[in-house]
Amino acid sequence: MLNIGCHLSVSKGYLHMGKEALSIGANTFQFFTRNPRGSKAKAIDARDTAGLAAFMEEHQFAPILGHAPYTLNPCSPDPKVREFAQMVMADDLERFEYLPHNLYTFHPGSHGGQGLISGMAYIVELLNKVLRPEQTTLVLLETMSGKGTEVGSSFKELKAILDQVELVDKAGVCLDTCHIYAAGYDIVGDLDGVLEEFDRIIGLEKLKAVHLNDSMHPLSSHKDRHAKIGEGTIGFEAIVKVINHPKLKHLPFFLETPNKVPGYGEEIKRLREAFRG
Ligand code: FE
Ligand code: FE
Ligand code: ZN
Repeated sequence: MLNIGCHLSVSKGYLHMGKEALSIGANTFQFFTRNPRGSKAKAIDARDTAGLAAFMEEHQFAPILGHAPYTLNPCSPDPKVREFAQMVMADDLERFEYLPHNLYTFHPGSHGGQGLISGMAYIVELLNKVLRPEQTTLVLLETMSGKGTEVGSSFKELKAILDQVELVDKAGVCLDTCHIYAAGYDIVGDLDGVLEEFDRIIGLEKLKAVHLNDSMHPLSSHKDRHAKIGEGTIGFEAIVKVINHPKLKHLPFFLETPNKVPGYGEEIKRLREAFRG
């Protein structure tokens, strides 16, 4: 069974996302925990989240993925920006416990010229403040393309962060196929080699989710522009190898391609047909 979904909007509520996912053949989905640009999150409606939890159970959904607002910068040189990131993440994680045992991903951020070492230390600090022993949510660092001063575009950087996280059992990695390709990991020419490197440096057991995207820009471009599946520089064949790889095929896959809901449905259909189990 291929566990696949796409990015959906939370604006009509949680149960609505579950039904929308099911209607396009998905058995999971991703959503922004709040307006991707703003800070305000709607109050949790516990009936709605309980409704989604029951719906997911009934339809055998894979874990769903909450995405932190992409404007958060946990490693900004500005203490106010870091404080804001911490406040938002702590609040998101508290709210996410209404949907226990799911996944939450965030962008490690941009160090803004202060240097990688200092930036990574701030990310560690954030995680050590927001992670709680009692939480059931796994918090995932997303692999980045390395544009500007972005942190997290190499497996070594992610490993260096994870190594200093006290509650490391609550943390993992979300691999974005567009981002790692743009960062210089050749998943088209040598997927096995890339996964071996991930395993050697981080350990594949820390990989908990995959963002499945094609890329507008070539290998090592350090540019983050997603393309529809099969319409980018990665291509359909290489994406099909990703979902069928014995070391990946059990994971939940999330499309973040430039699509509306029906377009996601088409991609999910093609990928399900290409899945060999
Ligand atoms: Fe992301
Ligand atoms: Fe992504
Ligand atoms: Zn991206």
